[in-house]
Amino acid sequence: MSAAPAPSLAKRIASRGPDALVTREVDHLVSKLLSEIRVPFGSLGTRVLNQLSDLKKILSTDYMEVPALPKKPLVEKLARIVETDIKQHTPTYEGLADLGSPELISHLQNLFGPRELELRAEPYTTGAGLSLRGFYCRAEVGPKSKFVIFVNTAHHPGAVAATLGHELGHYIYGSLVGEKAAHTAFMEGAFANHLMEEDELFADSLVALAAYGTDSLDRLDSIEQLKPGSSDDLFNRIKSAYKMIGPRYNLDLAKGKMAAAWRVRYLTSMAHFLKLRCALYKSAGI
Ligand SMILES: [Zn+2]
Repeated sequence: MSAAPAPSLAKRIASRGPDALVTREVDHLVSKLLSEIRVPFGSLGTRVLNQLSDLKKILSTDYMEVPALPKKPLVEKLARIVETDIKQHTPTYEGLADLGSPELISHLQNLFGPRELELRAEPYTTGAGLSLRGFYCRAEVGPKSKFVIFVNTAHHPGAVAATLGHELGHYIYGSLVGEKAAHTAFMEGAFANHLMEEDELFADSLVALAAYGTDSLDRLDSIEQLKPGSSDDLFNRIKSAYKMIGPRYNLDLAKGKMAAAWRVRYLTSMAHFLKLRCALYKSAGI
């Protein structure tokens, strides 16, 4: 006959219980997602494993509990900017891919200046190369002060569009809330880090709001925190978001010619923007 565990030990086991179950649920969800994008579980290299840890963090985090989630008044302002400025000042707005339109850039500059907004879109494959998706910097050029956005066009067009939206979000945040660090790079493997900073989540919120209009909300609705037994629901929502977004950018994550690490990366990005969009809907009613 074995003795019952001491109360403190029992408490520790009980408190560890749900976490272990959620971890198992996340593992189950990840393996379903990987088989969906045909990334073989048995042959994962270090790069893919690093991307997977970011994906797990994104999937297991309750976005409603993230302190850096922008507060309702700020989300309302941003949503208005997306609807009335971004969508209305782009000649034929069809989605994120149109954010680089010169008309929109000059409209945003008039609204959120005085810093002049300059966009540089080029393929960077050397040095930091593909690991860099984009960044911004503020510069004084003669009498002008500029906000220069660099976007690495060597990425898939869907990722390029999201990066541009993110950097425009920093420009707008600087005007609405105040300018933060002088220089921020949008490097790979860093989505989980965005959950720690309000300006990063604000910048991502621009992407989420522009990508998922209010018309898609009845399909997306709010996502409940991942609980034991609930991963099929999140799996189906990610899948339906992918079905909506994928064809728009001709993005096929199951295609073998795209490296596995990138397929996991883009999947993480999609899950992040989807969860963020649902959290904005749930927290701000937008
Ligand atoms: Zn950023």
